[in-house]
Amino acid sequence: NSIQIAIDGPAAAGKSTIAKLAAEELGFTYIDTGAMYRGITYKALERHIDLENEEALTQLLLETLIELKPSNEGQLVLLDGDDVSDAIRSTLVTSSVSAVASHASLREEMVKRQLKMAESGGVVMDGRDIGTHVLVNAQLKVFMSATVDERAKRRQLDNERRGIDSDVNQLKKEIAERDKMDSERQASPLIQAQDAIYLDTTNLSISEAANHIIQLAKE
Ligand code: C5P
Repeated sequence: NSIQIAIDGPAAAGKSTIAKLAAEELGFTYIDTGAMYRGITYKALERHIDLENEEALTQLLLETLIELKPSNEGQLVLLDGDDVSDAIRSTLVTSSVSAVASHASLREEMVKRQLKMAESGGVVMDGRDIGTHVLVNAQLKVFMSATVDERAKRRQLDNERRGIDSDVNQLKKEIAERDKMDSERQASPLIQAQDAIYLDTTNLSISEAANHIIQLAKE
């Protein structure tokens, strides 16, 4: 079984929650590529590396082991063996990641790793460039979005669950800024693949959206 499902879309559209649930129900591996970009951003910030320095960041990535492991509490992200699953969701990492992800040579190494991760069995992979650059031959491509108001509300709930208080208007601003950077960068910008199906999740629950994807996968 080597079915590949590619899920892309703007920030906080519910991609990872929905993709993970769909993967579980299909018995596929879920791969959160955003967590990989967040992981290297976290390490770069720790080391005070200039986020504009493409060469230094790419070198850092080449020396870094990033592992995604399924667990009962969701997916664990290990950086050189250390669990950074919570640390990579910080406000600082979130506001820095788009700058790191803008570098072409760093992305090239990420894509190489993602292709390797997708080699065995069925996969659901989510990110920004999965349908356009990573799994270009995926059997199913979905471009998932929701209104920015809805996405900010979801992110606020997410943060609440993590014990973080946040202002919904501030979140809206941050989400819009990140989408702008991700869409306007030179290297594989965020864009809907020509053969992707558009899914607006504004008025869908997590399970409704996941079921929709499962139905499409079965067609
Ligand atoms: O999906 P998530 O919001 O965790 O992704 C964090 C950031 O990583 C995105 O805003 C984007 O800058 C970058 N990213 C990317 N390509 C991917 C996945 C994430 O550029 N495939």
